[in-house]
This record gives sequence, C-alpha cells and structure tokens, in this order.
Amino acid sequence: MRKIVVAIDGPAASGKSTVSKAVAKELGFTYIDTGAMYRAFTEYVLRKGVNPEDEAACVKLIPEVTIDLYPDGKVMCSGKDVTREIREPHVSGNVSYIASYKDIRLALVELQRKMADKQSVVMDGRDIGTYVLPNADVKIYQIASVEERAKRRFLENQEKGIPCTLEDVIADVEKRDRIDSSRAFAPLKPAADSILLDTSKLSIEETRAKVLEIIREKTGI
Ligand code: C5P
Repeated sequence: MRKIVVAIDGPAASGKSTVSKAVAKELGFTYIDTGAMYRAFTEYVLRKGVNPEDEAACVKLIPEVTIDLYPDGKVMCSGKDVTREIREPHVSGNVSYIASYKDIRLALVELQRKMADKQSVVMDGRDIGTYVLPNADVKIYQIASVEERAKRRFLENQEKGIPCTLEDVIADVEKRDRIDSSRAFAPLKPAADSILLDTSKLSIEETRAKVLEIIREKTGI
C-alpha cells in the first residue's frame, strides 16, 4: 500500500490523541503524538531547574535533549521514562511557553518530519497540517467547546490518578489555547485545506468512525 499521511490538529484536550491512536491502530499506521514531544522537552527544562519562561536558557538545552516515542505510548526523554510525568499539571502549565520558542520547534519538527518520511502515520498536534506536513493526504481540524474539552480532560486525569480540579483544567486549557494561537511561529490554526470536525456532541466512538470515514473518502483506502 502507498504511504499515507494523516494530520490531526486542534486545541487542547479536543480528543485528538484518543481518536488518532484508535484510527492509527485500525489502519495499521504509526501514531505520533507531537504534544508528547513538547511535553517531554518541558519536563527536561523543569528537571534541570531552568525557568520555562527564559527562552535563551531553554534553547541552550536543545543539544542535551533526546526524545523517543514507543508504540506502547512510553515516552523517554534524555535517559528518563517521563510517560506519566508529562501529563501532570506542572508540565501542562508550562508546555506552551516551551512550544512558543522557534528554535525548539525547529528541532522537534525535524524529528517529526523524519518519522513521517518512512511510514504511514497519523500525527496529531497544533501545526501538523499548516507547517510540519503541509502535503498531508488528509488534514482534520478537531474542535469542541472549552467546557466539553475541560470536562473530558478532568475525567481522564481522574482515571489516571492525576490530582486536579475542574476549575484548574478549564484555566489550563484556556491558557494553552491563548498562547498556542497567538505565538508568532507556527501558531494553532486550521490549514486552509483542512476538514473541520466539531466533536462537542460526538462520543469517542462516533468521532473515530467519522475520522475513518474522512480518511477513506479522501484516500480511497
Ligand atoms: O497535544 P497536547 O495538548 O499534549 O500538547 C501540549 C502542548 O504542546 C500544546 O498546548 C502546545 O503548546 C504544544 N504543541 C505544539 N505543537 C504541536 C503539538 C503540541 O505547540 N504540534
């Protein structure tokens, strides 16, 4: 089968990763969670005691950072298993600063493009359709209301045993959306040729089915 590239973008906690993972599994494609890469970099910044709002100090760490994503969802960063920690509030609350630094983005985008070069992928993020993989075969921009997104993330955190309140999650989602959409380089926005999918009233199963339908229609697989 020919190589197929699917880009799924959208704001924080819009259900991209759950759906991308399920769709990739169904199609036998590799799932690439680019948010996990920005989160892993952020964990490293915090591990080193560097201020995440100090761009020059964060950029200096680039040569020390290695990030590996495993098929089972494990994330390794510079010798440490950070799978769980990158979902915790101290990382979520700082990741959008790190993701706004151009040099860090360029380093991570290079890795992302290499991963999509050799295999069929479903890649989720903020700038996949607009910047990372502008020639993707399918581009989907997934949205949902802030309330719905925060509620979903809150329940997910509870399941994972990550302590937080619903108010904390709403504040986090709003803050990340604001920083992600207003940054100068590769901001969060739909690609002109993306298909908009509002999942506010859809279950995970319905969203998965809809995304698969779009991919099949667009690619003929
Ligand atoms: O997808 P997730 O919510 O885990 O992403 C965490 C953060 O990483 C986002 O809020 C955003 O700041 C950053 N990000 C990004 N570009 C991507 C993926 C994530 O800027 N392609």
